[in-house]
Amino acid sequence: MTKAGSNGQVKMIFKLLITIGIIYIILRISKMGSGSGKDREINDPRAVPKAKEEDLVEDPYCHVHIPVSSAFQTSIEGKTIYFCSKDCWEKFQAEK
Ligand SMILES: [Zn+2]
Repeated sequence: MTKAGSNGQVKMIFKLLITIGIIYIILRISKMGSGSGKDREINDPRAVPKAKEEDLVEDPYCHVHIPVSSAFQTSIEGKTIYFCSKDCWEKFQAEK
């Protein structure tokens, strides 16, 4: 009797522990979800300068839009001007 009673208690405690474990896992997953959302917010300021780097600039010679990072950069009269290639810069200079 006592053995069977304690056995039943053990089973109940075990079920309770499983239930608590499942609730704990669900809470952790939902917390992790909001945590990663915060990480994205932290990553956002880092992404901003990168996005700026990838800003499109217009080639004043052929009027093609190129990302800043792959543009041919030159400064004319203190102004930074972006060209799609050195060829366009040379042609632009020659026309001036
Ligand atoms: Zn060009």
